[in-house]
Amino acid sequence: MRAEIVMIGTELLLGEIVDTNAAKLALGLRSIGLDLYYKTTVGDNLARITEVLNHALNRSDVVITSGGLGPTVDDMTREAVANATGRKLVYSDELERQIAARFRLFGREMAENNKRQAFIPDGALPLRNPVGTAPCFLSEDVAGRGFIISLPGVPRELEYMLDNTVLPLLVERMGGKKALKVRVLRTCAVGESNIDRAIGDLEELANPTVGLSAHAGQTDVRITAKADTEAEAEALIAQVEAELRRRLGVAIYGVDKETVPGVVGQLLAERGLKIGVVDTLSGGLLARDLIDAGFGEVIAASLQPDSVAAALAETRVSLNGSDYSALARAVAPAGGLGVALLGPFDDDQTLILIEGPVDSQHVTYASRKFQDSDYVRRWFATQGLDWVRRVLLNQLTSPADWN
Ligand code: ATP
Repeated sequence: MRAEIVMIGTELLLGEIVDTNAAKLALGLRSIGLDLYYKTTVGDNLARITEVLNHALNRSDVVITSGGLGPTVDDMTREAVANATGRKLVYSDELERQIAARFRLFGREMAENNKRQAFIPDGALPLRNPVGTAPCFLSEDVAGRGFIISLPGVPRELEYMLDNTVLPLLVERMGGKKALKVRVLRTCAVGESNIDRAIGDLEELANPTVGLSAHAGQTDVRITAKADTEAEAEALIAQVEAELRRRLGVAIYGVDKETVPGVVGQLLAERGLKIGVVDTLSGGLLARDLIDAGFGEVIAASLQPDSVAAALAETRVSLNGSDYSALARAVAPAGGLGVALLGPFDDDQTLILIEGPVDSQHVTYASRKFQDSDYVRRWFATQGLDWVRRVLLNQLTSPADWN
């Protein structure tokens, strides 16, 4: 079966509210292994909602709508669903009684316009909504194209209906839950186009699928597998993961929710190593990241001078030529690592330097040009930490090797 979701509400198109319902629905469908192929957002306009639903029924088996079930004139979902599924809207005395009972529960009188909510498409299956007044329903298409389930826009109500009624109903219609598993391999310091070059053929697989998403110096490789059981989905993922690891090697720093500072902090803590940091590039983000990841104790020293000249003055380091690694050595604790994020130099060049006792490794990584922005500061912090990770793992392929 294929599912599609249709989010209804002009305020969504105006950007006045964030569409959290769509994410809830998508996660719910993913949890039962039902493929979601399309999501459409449409305003409160009867002709357009009807058109979108018709289009959805042409290409999907299950269409789930969110919003537009209220009592006001601009709540048009009932009518649009009736149009699209080829049914009349009919008045249900039973629904009116349910709505009136719910109002009584809160000591309120049911207003005349709430009677609008007692209309549903002829033959539709009412889905009881114990957390709100808007009745939900399932309407089958008379032409046999599939069915539409309509849920309220209020997030609390939608969530309740999804978990308690809709997902169990869909699992039954699917003839059992399918397993849809996702694993994200997280890479750092390599660049999306280099990753794409290394694994492009795997991005064309049908099951599992492999997809990329990039952010601030990192690229996520998402593997998504679908199967009848969790174990089968897991096995499908394992095969592709092994091949991805073979090709990407040390560029992969972690999986799923792991972060660069979390992984690096863990490595340092396990080995009982501490680091000292001198940082004129990330505004202290590198040290902050380690603290936020719960590894503040691995930081022996952290200097954040506002220029390389200030760093030299503060550490009383005199340079031998332009051997800035002396700065990394100056902040390294005994037996630990020194990390220096330095720049901008002439032409806005920068340097990431790591000095450490791990096999006496010494890394100089000339990195991107400096620009004063939050994005670039985040980039330097993450790259600096990732180079510490590579030093600790003794795998120092440089990003240049990828070109
Ligand atoms: P009700 O029957 O309670 O009036 P409804 O089905 O008519 O609900 P809407 O009027 O479309 O739903 O939306 C009610 C409220 O729910 C909106 O004002 C908004 O705050 C929230 N809402 C609607 N759609 C979404 C969405 N996609 N994501 C997050 N919140 C939403």
